[in-house]
Amino acid sequence: MNMATGDIRSNKVIMKEFPKVELHRHLEGTFHLPTLHRIAMQNGLPYTDDMDAFKSAVQFPKDSEPDFLTFLSKFKNDWYRSHQDVHDIVYDSVRHFSDDGLFYIELRFSPEHFAFHNDFDRMEITRIVIDAANAAAAEANVLIRYLVTFNRGKQNQYEMIDLYRTIRGLAIPEIVGIDLAGDETQYPPDQFTEFFRTVKEDGVYGTTIHAGEVSPAEQVWESIDRLHAGRIGHGTSTIDDEALQKRLIDEGIVLEQCITSNYQTGSWVDEQNHPLGRLYRSGVPVTINSDDPTIQDTDLTDDYIKACSYFDLSFDDLEKLNLIAIEGAFLPDREKSELRKKYLAAVKQFKDRFLVD
Ligand SMILES: [Zn+2]
Repeated sequence: MNMATGDIRSNKVIMKEFPKVELHRHLEGTFHLPTLHRIAMQNGLPYTDDMDAFKSAVQFPKDSEPDFLTFLSKFKNDWYRSHQDVHDIVYDSVRHFSDDGLFYIELRFSPEHFAFHNDFDRMEITRIVIDAANAAAAEANVLIRYLVTFNRGKQNQYEMIDLYRTIRGLAIPEIVGIDLAGDETQYPPDQFTEFFRTVKEDGVYGTTIHAGEVSPAEQVWESIDRLHAGRIGHGTSTIDDEALQKRLIDEGIVLEQCITSNYQTGSWVDEQNHPLGRLYRSGVPVTINSDDPTIQDTDLTDDYIKACSYFDLSFDDLEKLNLIAIEGAFLPDREKSELRKKYLAAVKQFKDRFLVD
């Protein structure tokens, strides 16, 4: 690799342009802050006009030690008073995805998050979120699909099954997967076996489980064996378990890893030795993701720059990591191969523009 390329890998303006496939980002963690602030003011929520003060109230504190529960505490759901509020925050947030060079994203969201405070109808709210995000993604020229997030601790698995059936009944083709998130220390996988048996029997959606983020590798095994996970959110503890790594390789189970988020939650504090680099070199299917860029005060490009710098990844490596993400996408094979073709063409364009020998 020549020097010029080395410089480019830390150049944020250029790295933003690199086409990115992202499998793990929460809509509730990627809000466009000016719109959120406007909604908060309009609805009389207790924040000041001052944008800096608002930012420090809603983002993970810069001076905080890494802490999982502090991180989770930033996800508030009492912003909205109307369907219009929900539409506006979703539309404005997704509209900005192209700033990060997003090419394809499986964006996850929790209908409960948007509906809970006002007890909005969950079906209606799901439609509003998808319609607003579809329109914004089309305008931003980003390909988008959705995962529905269910939150441990907010509902038991029988309530989850009810909501799941409601959403499945909508038969929205852009919804391709189901995600389990929230506090994995208090709510281990065995509390959700019925729910994920139902999802598997239906065979309509892919399944991804947040596991091994702040819990041992055992929870990743259980998520695969008992919850039928097709992908794993984070799975940092996989680095401790070679048999598990072999299982992921053999079955093509993709880890959705998030370097900055893992620092802030305390999942993996020593960023420079984050497992992503070693797992990638051992052939484990890993991917680079942002998780909750607004809460983290960061973006996906920052995670790419970190990955390049910590693990000395080349543009060929980045391309491979994105092809792994496409392979792990919850899409039919035909759509995956179409996406792969388009993605490779976009990367070639990037290389023609920025990489010179
Ligand atoms: Zn997550």
